[in-house]
Amino acid sequence: MMDEFITLRVRPGETVRFPNLCVACGQPARERLSVRRRRGQVVRRFDAPLCAACARQLTRRSGQEERWLRLGWLVVVVGAAAVLLLSVALLPLAALWLRLAAGAVLALGSALLLRRWIVRQAMAAELPEKRAVREAVRLVAFGPRAMTLAVARPETAAAVRELNAGAVVAPAPPGDTPPADGAGAEPKEND
Ligand SMILES: [Zn+2]
Repeated sequence: MMDEFITLRVRPGETVRFPNLCVACGQPARERLSVRRRRGQVVRRFDAPLCAACARQLTRRSGQEERWLRLGWLVVVVGAAAVLLLSVALLPLAALWLRLAAGAVLALGSALLLRRWIVRQAMAAELPEKRAVREAVRLVAFGPRAMTLAVARPETAAAVRELNAGAVVAPAPPGDTPPADGAGAEPKEND
Protein backbone atom coordinates (compact mmCIF):
# COMPACT_ATOMS: atom_id res chain seq x y z
CA MET A 1 0.00 0.00 0.00
CA MET A 2 1.42 3.38 -1.00
CA ASP A 3 0.69 6.33 1.25
CA GLU A 4 -0.32 9.63 -0.29
CA PHE A 5 1.42 12.70 1.10
CA ILE A 6 -0.56 15.89 1.60
CA THR A 7 1.00 19.12 2.78
CA LEU A 8 -1.47 21.53 4.32
CA ARG A 9 -1.08 25.10 5.47
CA VAL A 10 -2.24 24.46 9.01
CA ARG A 11 -0.96 26.50 11.91
CA PRO A 12 -0.76 25.24 15.49
CA GLY A 13 -4.29 25.22 16.93
CA GLU A 14 -5.97 24.91 13.52
CA THR A 15 -7.57 21.60 12.65
CA VAL A 16 -7.47 19.34 9.62
CA ARG A 17 -10.92 18.50 8.22
CA PHE A 18 -11.83 14.89 7.57
CA PRO A 19 -14.97 13.30 6.16
CA ASN A 20 -16.96 11.58 8.91
CA LEU A 21 -15.78 8.20 7.65
CA CYS A 22 -13.23 5.85 9.18
CA VAL A 23 -9.76 6.73 7.84
CA ALA A 24 -8.74 3.06 8.05
CA CYS A 25 -11.72 1.35 6.34
CA GLY A 26 -14.25 3.95 5.14
CA GLN A 27 -17.16 2.90 7.39
CA PRO A 28 -19.17 5.58 9.25
CA ALA A 29 -17.03 6.86 12.11
CA ARG A 30 -17.90 7.45 15.72
CA GLU A 31 -14.47 7.11 17.32
CA ARG A 32 -11.22 9.09 16.96
CA LEU A 33 -7.68 8.27 16.04
CA SER A 34 -5.30 10.60 17.83
CA VAL A 35 -2.50 11.48 15.42
CA ARG A 36 0.54 13.12 16.92
CA ARG A 37 4.17 13.86 16.33
CA ARG A 38 6.84 15.28 18.57
CA ARG A 39 9.84 17.27 17.45
CA GLY A 40 12.03 18.34 20.35
CA GLN A 41 9.74 20.06 22.83
CA VAL A 42 7.00 20.72 20.27
CA VAL A 43 4.08 18.32 19.88
CA ARG A 44 1.46 18.67 17.16
CA ARG A 45 -1.67 16.58 17.24
CA PHE A 46 -5.07 16.24 15.65
CA ASP A 47 -7.89 13.70 15.59
CA ALA A 48 -8.99 11.62 12.61
CA PRO A 49 -12.30 9.70 12.43
CA LEU A 50 -12.35 5.95 13.12
CA CYS A 51 -15.18 3.42 13.13
CA ALA A 52 -15.87 1.38 16.27
CA ALA A 53 -14.32 -1.81 14.85
CA CYS A 54 -11.04 -0.10 13.91
CA ALA A 55 -10.94 1.71 17.26
CA ARG A 56 -11.17 -1.73 18.89
CA GLN A 57 -8.24 -2.96 16.79
CA LEU A 58 -6.14 -0.17 18.26
CA THR A 59 -6.60 -1.53 21.78
CA ARG A 60 -5.56 -5.08 20.87
CA ARG A 61 -2.09 -6.28 21.75
CA SER A 62 -0.15 -9.26 20.46
CA GLY A 63 1.20 -11.59 23.14
CA GLN A 64 4.72 -10.46 22.38
CA GLU A 65 3.79 -6.79 22.58
CA GLU A 66 2.14 -7.48 25.93
CA ARG A 67 5.31 -9.18 27.19
CA TRP A 68 7.55 -6.31 26.10
CA LEU A 69 5.35 -3.77 27.84
CA ARG A 70 5.04 -5.87 30.99
CA LEU A 71 8.75 -6.74 31.24
CA GLY A 72 9.77 -3.28 30.08
CA TRP A 73 9.87 -1.61 33.49
CA LEU A 74 11.86 -4.47 34.99
CA VAL A 75 14.47 -4.17 32.23
CA VAL A 76 14.66 -0.40 32.76
CA VAL A 77 15.08 -0.68 36.56
CA VAL A 78 17.63 -3.53 36.42
CA GLY A 79 19.58 -1.83 33.63
CA ALA A 80 19.72 1.52 35.43
CA ALA A 81 20.72 -0.13 38.73
CA ALA A 82 23.52 -2.05 36.99
CA VAL A 83 24.83 1.16 35.40
CA LEU A 84 24.78 2.91 38.79
CA LEU A 85 26.64 0.06 40.53
CA LEU A 86 29.23 -0.21 37.75
CA SER A 87 29.78 3.55 37.81
CA VAL A 88 30.42 3.56 41.56
CA ALA A 89 32.76 0.57 41.22
CA LEU A 90 34.69 1.56 38.10
CA LEU A 91 34.66 5.33 37.51
CA PRO A 92 38.14 6.82 38.05
CA LEU A 93 36.92 9.47 40.50
CA ALA A 94 38.36 9.60 44.01
CA ALA A 95 35.29 10.80 45.95
CA LEU A 96 32.40 8.36 46.40
CA TRP A 97 29.82 11.15 46.08
CA LEU A 98 31.28 12.13 42.69
CA ARG A 99 31.02 8.53 41.46
CA LEU A 100 27.45 8.37 42.81
CA ALA A 101 26.48 11.64 41.12
CA ALA A 102 28.03 10.67 37.78
CA GLY A 103 26.52 7.19 38.12
CA ALA A 104 23.07 8.64 38.74
CA VAL A 105 23.31 10.75 35.57
CA LEU A 106 24.50 7.74 33.54
CA ALA A 107 21.78 5.53 35.06
CA LEU A 108 19.07 8.05 34.17
CA GLY A 109 20.37 8.28 30.62
CA SER A 110 20.45 4.49 30.32
CA ALA A 111 16.92 4.22 31.69
CA LEU A 112 15.63 6.64 29.03
CA LEU A 113 17.44 4.81 26.23
CA LEU A 114 16.23 1.41 27.46
CA ARG A 115 12.67 2.66 27.73
CA ARG A 116 12.78 4.01 24.19
CA TRP A 117 14.23 0.71 22.93
CA ILE A 118 11.48 -1.30 24.68
CA VAL A 119 8.72 0.88 23.26
CA ARG A 120 10.24 0.32 19.82
CA GLN A 121 10.35 -3.46 20.36
CA ALA A 122 6.72 -3.45 21.51
CA MET A 123 5.70 -1.46 18.42
CA ALA A 124 7.58 -3.87 16.17
CA ALA A 125 5.60 -6.74 17.75
CA GLU A 126 2.18 -5.16 17.29
CA LEU A 127 -0.53 -6.88 15.28
CA PRO A 128 -0.54 -5.97 11.56
CA GLU A 129 -4.25 -5.06 11.74
CA LYS A 130 -3.48 -2.67 14.57
CA ARG A 131 -0.58 -1.11 12.69
CA ALA A 132 -2.77 -0.62 9.62
CA VAL A 133 -5.24 1.38 11.74
CA ARG A 134 -2.53 3.32 13.58
CA GLU A 135 -0.83 4.24 10.30
CA ALA A 136 -4.01 5.04 8.34
CA VAL A 137 -3.15 8.71 8.83
CA ARG A 138 0.29 9.81 9.99
CA LEU A 139 1.73 13.21 10.69
CA VAL A 140 5.11 12.89 8.97
CA ALA A 141 6.37 16.46 9.29
CA PHE A 142 5.28 19.83 10.62
CA GLY A 143 6.49 23.37 10.88
CA PRO A 144 5.04 26.60 12.23
CA ARG A 145 2.88 27.13 9.13
CA ALA A 146 2.25 23.72 7.60
CA MET A 147 2.08 20.00 8.20
CA THR A 148 2.51 16.97 5.95
CA LEU A 149 0.19 14.00 6.35
CA ALA A 150 0.67 10.49 4.99
CA VAL A 151 -2.73 8.99 4.18
CA ALA A 152 -3.09 5.28 3.43
CA ARG A 153 -6.51 5.17 1.74
CA PRO A 154 -6.78 7.00 -1.61
CA GLU A 155 -10.48 7.80 -0.88
CA THR A 156 -9.52 9.44 2.41
CA ALA A 157 -6.68 11.35 0.75
CA ALA A 158 -9.02 12.67 -1.96
CA ALA A 159 -11.60 13.74 0.63
CA VAL A 160 -8.98 15.47 2.78
CA ARG A 161 -7.69 17.39 -0.26
CA GLU A 162 -11.24 18.44 -1.11
CA LEU A 163 -12.29 19.41 2.43
CA ASN A 164 -9.08 21.38 3.00
CA ALA A 165 -8.78 22.67 -0.57
CA GLY A 166 -7.79 26.18 0.49
CA ALA A 167 -4.94 24.85 2.63
CA VAL A 168 -3.36 22.29 0.29
CA VAL A 169 0.18 23.45 -0.53
CA ALA A 170 1.13 21.23 -3.47
CA PRO A 171 -0.12 17.87 -4.63
CA ALA A 172 2.71 15.41 -3.99
CA PRO A 173 3.50 13.17 -6.96
CA PRO A 174 2.57 9.54 -6.28
CA GLY A 175 5.46 7.54 -4.87
CA ASP A 176 7.08 10.66 -3.47
CA THR A 177 9.53 9.78 -0.73
CA PRO A 178 8.41 10.81 2.74
CA PRO A 179 10.48 13.41 4.56
CA ALA A 180 13.24 11.90 6.68
CA ASP A 181 11.96 10.59 9.98
CA GLY A 182 12.83 12.51 13.10
CA ALA A 183 14.19 15.95 13.86
CA GLY A 184 14.76 18.55 11.19
CA ALA A 185 12.10 17.34 8.80
CA GLU A 186 10.43 20.53 7.62
CA PRO A 187 7.49 20.44 5.26
CA LYS A 188 8.06 22.36 2.06
CA GLU A 189 6.42 25.75 2.13
CA ASN A 190 6.21 27.86 -0.98
CA ASP A 191 5.11 31.18 0.41
ZN1 LIG B 1 -12.81 1.39 10.32
